[in-house]
Amino acid sequence: MAKVYYGEDVKQNVLVGKTVAVIGYGSQGHAHALNLHENGHKVVVGCRPGKSWDAAVNDGLHVTTVSEAAKVADVVMVLLPDEHQPAVYENEIAPYLQSGNALAFAHGFNVHFDQIVPPADVDVFLVAPKGPGHLVRRTFVDGAAVPALFAVYQDVTGEAKEVALSYADGIGSTRAGVLETTFKEETETDLFGEQAVLCGGVTSLVKSGFETLVEAGYQPEVAYFECLHELKLIVDLMYEGGMSYMRYSISDTAQWGDFVSGPRVVADESKAAMKDILAEIQDGTFAKGWINENKNGRPVFNKVNESEKHHQLEEVGEKLRAMMPFIQRKEKVEVK
Ligand code: NDP
Ligand code: MG
Ligand code: MG
Repeated sequence: MAKVYYGEDVKQNVLVGKTVAVIGYGSQGHAHALNLHENGHKVVVGCRPGKSWDAAVNDGLHVTTVSEAAKVADVVMVLLPDEHQPAVYENEIAPYLQSGNALAFAHGFNVHFDQIVPPADVDVFLVAPKGPGHLVRRTFVDGAAVPALFAVYQDVTGEAKEVALSYADGIGSTRAGVLETTFKEETETDLFGEQAVLCGGVTSLVKSGFETLVEAGYQPEVAYFECLHELKLIVDLMYEGGMSYMRYSISDTAQWGDFVSGPRVVADESKAAMKDILAEIQDGTFAKGWINENKNGRPVFNKVNESEKHHQLEEVGEKLRAMMPFIQRKEKVEVK
């Protein structure tokens, strides 16, 4: 079994006296910066003027430009959207890195796919929380945590692993458990998980179920509750006790249906598609496509994003959730 690191496995003094620059104050950025700060670490947030800058100032953090933050820091954690990282790194971070500094990421994409090539004289590591940034913050405040992976890509100081573990401890993840990985494994499994299961797999499953019921003449509201709303309740049970606990909680009829029908829905064809998806992640086809999509101004991304917002499932869900004020959307997104 893989070694899982907890608080007691972390050398407490390696970040003492060091300044951590958190570059970007978005989903991951705000969580890392606030958690590290509240754990007593010296944090400087690197932003461009605007929304994020103001938010970080409002939260009581020391905020400066990206280049100034990179200049004063010993550890530079890059928490910008992956597609913007190479340009910002090139112009505003790389020129200010000093020998022996650490350059850090929360996802291996740019380093693994050679979009960022770090200099040979800095440590390079990643600490990737296995959950959305807003939960990294919310669980920390509640005394819990999101688990994380860490990986060392380059160790020039001999301390890179200890610094990475201290960083993971600083954002709270050692409360939940931290696993060692490589940039290659983190990048490929993260991309696969979000595409095949967590985001792509789940949204396609929910949509197909909803459409099947509505096309058969059932009420869209009933289909929404059945295929989307209840999903959280089922996933919560799996999160707490695995598939067995979920199956213990549901009726035997539901469990029998699970056994006989589940493998018909996600069958050999889906597994074959998953294998193709994984192969395209591994050989760089997916990365190349996404990099090009960004270079071209995101024509496909924007088109699909727009049409998905107007799917009947979304319009029905918006109305039903408005009647359930106890379901709180923590952050506002533009829906219409
Ligand atoms: P976000 O999209 O939330 O980051 C937005 C932040 O980046 C904002 O502060 C924004 O500032 C800033 N930003 C964007 N472009 C620039 C620029 N050109 N110059 C300066 N600042 C800029 O990113 P995420 O938190 O989603 O992702 C960060 C990293 O974490 C990625 O590597 C991602 O793969 C990884 N990760 C993300 C997870 C998540 O939960 N989202 C989960 C695990 C890993 P402004 O307000 O000024 O636009
Ligand atoms: Mg990801
Ligand atoms: Mg039922």
